[in-house]
Amino acid sequence: MNIGNQKVVSITYKLQEGNKSGAVVQEVDSKEPFVFLFGAQQVLPDFEIHLNEKAVGDSFEFGIESDKAYGPVDENAVVDLPKNMFEVDGKLGDIVKVGNYLPMNDQEGNPLQGLVVEIKDEHVKMDFNHPMAGKDLFFSGEVVEIREATAEELEHGHVHGPGGHQH
Ligand SMILES: [Zn+2]
Repeated sequence: MNIGNQKVVSITYKLQEGNKSGAVVQEVDSKEPFVFLFGAQQVLPDFEIHLNEKAVGDSFEFGIESDKAYGPVDENAVVDLPKNMFEVDGKLGDIVKVGNYLPMNDQEGNPLQGLVVEIKDEHVKMDFNHPMAGKDLFFSGEVVEIREATAEELEHGHVHGPGGHQH
């Protein structure tokens, strides 16, 4: 069986910043492989292009340029927010430290992560860019398993069971 639309694909991978010798950002091993429904827009389009037609045991190695990954850094996504938004009983929460990612919500209530860039007198400068914005990605790994998606998985547009939705 080869990877293609309507297949459930399990892979191990290593994500590095920039290229083969870049810093390791994420590593997924065979104990807990990454499982996704191919062709369901769950991963970057270029990610699928490079995995298409591969079989179990095949390895892969490819780069994705930033404009086809998480896009350029958006200066408008760096904002000063009033300090009192981060205060509990008049004090800054312990997790509000430069370099930490904070779980927050956008205006529609959707969860998003913000990086604390600077703590000023009355404001906290936050960066809401994706951590990999403006960066090229390099992936390497191996195909662990391929199976047909069930009718229910296709209807839901995601994988059920281990590594997927449990419902
Ligand atoms: Zn489902």
